[in-house]
Formats: sequence, structure tokens, C-alpha cells
Amino acid sequence: MTRTPAPLPLSKRADLMPRSAIREIMALAAGRNDVIHLEVGEPDFGTPSHIIESAFEAVRAGATRYTGNAGRPSLRAAIAARAARRGTPVAPERAIVTVGAIGALFTALMTVVDTGDEVLIPDPGWPNYESIVIMAGGVPVRYPLPESDGFIPDPDDLLRRIGPKTKAILINSPGNPTGAVFPLEVVRRIGAIAAQTGIYLISDEIYEDVVFDGARHESFLEHTPEDRLFIISGVSKSYAMTGWRLGWLICPARAVAIAEKLQEPVVSCAPTPSQVAAEAALAGPQDSVEAGRLLFQRRRDIFMHELGPTGMVAGQPRGAFYGLVKLGNGHATALEFARKLLIEQGVAVVPGDTFGPSTSRMVRVAFTIEDERLTEGLRRIGRAVGSKV
Ligand code: PLP
Repeated sequence: MTRTPAPLPLSKRADLMPRSAIREIMALAAGRNDVIHLEVGEPDFGTPSHIIESAFEAVRAGATRYTGNAGRPSLRAAIAARAARRGTPVAPERAIVTVGAIGALFTALMTVVDTGDEVLIPDPGWPNYESIVIMAGGVPVRYPLPESDGFIPDPDDLLRRIGPKTKAILINSPGNPTGAVFPLEVVRRIGAIAAQTGIYLISDEIYEDVVFDGARHESFLEHTPEDRLFIISGVSKSYAMTGWRLGWLICPARAVAIAEKLQEPVVSCAPTPSQVAAEAALAGPQDSVEAGRLLFQRRRDIFMHELGPTGMVAGQPRGAFYGLVKLGNGHATALEFARKLLIEQGVAVVPGDTFGPSTSRMVRVAFTIEDERLTEGLRRIGRAVGSKV
């Protein structure tokens, strides 16, 4: 009898992609009742009803077919108009509609990166940056967001890190997991680095509407030459639309044809009903955006009120909806702390190593649940953090 040969190895590249420690925490949490969920990064309120109604109506009227790879022209125009609201004009052709902001990041990196190209990514930063760079065949290289500087990068340090293989810098403000919002001067200086070196800036601005204390979100659009800038955003966080999977990319005019082409073999186009809903979100009343911003600011205040006095908060969040909490020396790894916190206190958080080595002794808290449960969860974290410091 002939023996069937063993199957060939699976993709080495896929194997290289890091597995997120958040998975383990989510798996542990799934088997338990009454967990206080502070690990999930999405608004906890529903999509505004006028947006939902517009999608229903559109589907009944036949919005059930493919659109072009880059999305509905009317939505592209609405995205361009929104991006241009600060005064820098954006041609609608530069807007590509994607499946979530994650789809925009994927398309941007596939458009820019060749095998072996280095991409500077933040430490700490959203874990998917590392994975997408690897998927695109690139090499992720971390640059620091120092806690001592409020998680704001030093543009001179960034410039020094640019080597012959550097193709792009990935920037994220307001930041996940840091809550940092880059000031105008830093945005200007990083934009100038792109102008000076020719490298690409890929700016993830998905939290652009979630800023606190009168801070202003500074878009790289105003401060970077158009031919080397990719802006990522979407409706997920601003309009409580995470499940609609609708984002966008604003890319250099000369990259549009490539970005558009790259949509075809992966998603063809973003879901048509979601495109209609996004258009309704952008064109309709904006009061829910402001209400969401105020809600997360209030929750940030609760976060600071409960954990600020422990001295363990790493930088007061000024945007997005996350805060980082430091662990004292008495604790083992962040993963072990998070596991213990879940098992003994019933509170789920994300171990900081998920975001990079610099936060390996921190955990991330998302303030995306209602005030009372949030307060209770934070008190339990405060007790656990303080128990061994
Ligand atoms: N960028 C950052 C920094 C995020 O935190 C997230 C989601 O958590 C995304 C992008 C992805 O957004 P979307 O759900 O629209 O794909």
C-alpha cells in the first residue's frame, strides 16, 4: 500500500504573524458569566436610527449588488468633502471605500510595500499594524512612543530611524492603546519628514472625532505633501458602526489606480448597504458624534478618578477610549495579571505586550461600558494593581 505523503508546510509568512494575547483573555472570558468587559474597543451604544433606516430603505430599493472597486461615487464625494472640511481640498477620486478602516490599512500597505521594505510602526501600537506589514511582505520596525513624553513621538528620533530600506511610517493619533493626541507642532514636523525624505506617511485617524478637553485632532492632510500621504478613517468609531465594516482610504492621486485594483482580489468592494449607511452618516445630523465624544470623555474622567490616585495610570488619555495601567514590580507578566484579574475579579482587560514591548508591564482598559459597571471594574483593577506594589 502506498503511503500518502504528509502535506506540504503551511505559509511561513502567515506563521510569522503574531497571535494576539487578547485571544486568550477573550476565550477565558467567554466561559464565564458576569464578566466586566474592559477589553473590547467599540462604542457600546447603537448606530443612530436614521442611518439604520437609510440602509433598510436602500436595500429594499435594490442596493444589493456590487459597486465599483473604489465604492459608490456619491460616497467617495462625501468622504472627500468631509476630509476637506479643514480647508485642504481633496478630489473625490482620491477616496477609496474599504471594508472597515482595517481594509484601508491593508490596501495602503499593499499599495506601498515591496518584499523586504521596512515600515516604522509605533511601540505601543495597534497589533494589526505588525500583522499587515508582514502580510504585505514588509518588515515592521518599532519606533518608540515614550510614556515619559505622553506617548508622543519625537520627530527627530523618527528621522534618525529612517534607513535605506524604510518605505513608510505608520502614525496613529488619537492613539490606541495610548489615548495620546499629537499636537500640531509634532504633526507638522512629521509631515516635513515625509517631504524631506520621500517616504510615505500612513496616518490612521479612525479616532479623529473622539478627542477630549478641547483638544483638536490635527490631520496629516494639512501638513504633508499629497503625493506621499495615505489617510485611514471610517465610520466605525464616530458613528458606532463597527459591525457595518465600512472605512476609507484617501491616497495620493498617482496611487488611486493601484489601490482600486487591490480591492478586487480581496473584497471586490465594500458591502453596498453599508456604503449607503455611511453616506447617510456623513450627510445626516452629527449630534450623535458629539454625544459619543462627551460620553467617552466622561468615562475617561471616571477612569482617571478611580485609577489616577493609584499613581499607576500611564498618561491621561486625551482621545480614543483607552487607558493604560502600569503594573507594579510584584506582578508577573501582564498576561498573567490579566488572567488572574479575570479569574479572581471577573474583569477582562488586554495585556500590554499585545501592543509592543514597551507596554509589556501594563494592561489596556477600554472605557466602553456604562458608568456603574465601569466604576466597579476600575475599582477591582485598582485593588488588584495595588495588592502587590
Ligand atoms: N485603527 C485602530 C487604531 C483601531 O483601534 C481600529 C479598531 O479597533 C481600527 C483601525 C479598525 O477599524 P475598523 O473597525 O473600521 O476596521
